[in-house]
Amino acid sequence: MMNIPFIDLEAMHDEVRDELDDVWRRISRSGRFIGGEAVENFEREWARYCNTGHCVGVGSGTAAVELALTALGIGRGDEVIVPANTFIATAAAAVATGAEVVFVDVDPATLLVTPDIVARAITPRTAAVIVVHLYGQTADMDGIDATASSAGIAVVEDAAQAHGALWRGRKAGGLSHLGCFSFYPGKNLGAFGDAGAVVTDDGALAERIRRLSNHGRAPDDPHCHDIVGANHRLDALQAAVLSVKLKRLDAWNAGRRRAADAYAAALAGLPLRLVETAPGASSSHHLAVVQTPYRDELRRALAAEGISTSVHYPIPCHQQAAFSTARERSLPVVEAAARRILSLPLYPHLTDAQIGRVADVVTRALQNVACAEPEEVLGAANPDTVAAFSPTVLVP
Ligand SMILES: *Cc1c(COP(=O)(O)O)cnc(C)c1O
Repeated sequence: MMNIPFIDLEAMHDEVRDELDDVWRRISRSGRFIGGEAVENFEREWARYCNTGHCVGVGSGTAAVELALTALGIGRGDEVIVPANTFIATAAAAVATGAEVVFVDVDPATLLVTPDIVARAITPRTAAVIVVHLYGQTADMDGIDATASSAGIAVVEDAAQAHGALWRGRKAGGLSHLGCFSFYPGKNLGAFGDAGAVVTDDGALAERIRRLSNHGRAPDDPHCHDIVGANHRLDALQAAVLSVKLKRLDAWNAGRRRAADAYAAALAGLPLRLVETAPGASSSHHLAVVQTPYRDELRRALAAEGISTSVHYPIPCHQQAAFSTARERSLPVVEAAARRILSLPLYPHLTDAQIGRVADVVTRALQNVACAEPEEVLGAANPDTVAAFSPTVLVP
């Protein structure tokens, strides 16, 4: 039996093994382990890749979101709109600023927020919306930017799953005031540990994030701290690894696209539905997510054949115990999706033979269960449904 892993980082690293091995030698001899040339180089390369004026390397994707909100002056008394269908870090980063998170539902086809959903959640206290380009897709950023600017609120992108994804030809992360990236090892561009970045066209915001991430240090005097910061810096080793891997990112994303297209062709006609990419969006294919009412049966059948899958995410944020004050509110699309979504193996070097085997097992598994049209079961998003989480419960 040919086991198929959920993700295969080794095949990617094999392509650049010598350069990656050289990173350790180079940085260990440079004596610059925090900041310095390696970090500056990667920041320049990542800003160029995202078509933004500035990039600040930071310690993680979570830190990127928290720093972005803090740099915008968001904190206690403010509301931040967050889709409930995201990794919990998006919401946790907003809570860390002292702001109140307002969870919203998502569109049933893309599982992303829409301009309409954002518009209905805006109150006089709303300071920002965090748009999450989940699975590598991009949300309707023209619509959301227009909605936000007429309401006078900021837009922050959580592009942790969307390295190289496009909205109408423009790169994710460069479509709002501040774009936040994670370089967690399993992301499309992954470090050898934790790493992240914030990109922006606003030089003053970039400067503020740099200070906040480096103990509030003034740029011209490391002993002068005119604001209180923290330590959320990017390591030189991680930056150098990222620079090596960045050269392969577009090729690896193309490999992901080939695999995702092959899945779409092989799975057509089955009682499951691939998460759709909105017209105007070009996905980075971080994850291959299908929705089916027979998710658990399907997952068991794949596991029995040695095929690893995952669920992103089985418990929506507003139903997590950590956000207990938001739990009684209902966000029907996110809740239904959490029971139906399954992430299939996806990585640049996934072979046609592997995809064929996954599709065969999926086909056989679904032949054994009654057929229902998932579209009929999934309701339309109700933009009026919001669930508020007040972080005050955390304060003693
Ligand atoms: C990975 C991820 C994060 C968190 O990034 P870290 O680098 O692990 O802190 C945040 N949001 C989303 C959508 C993610 O996928």
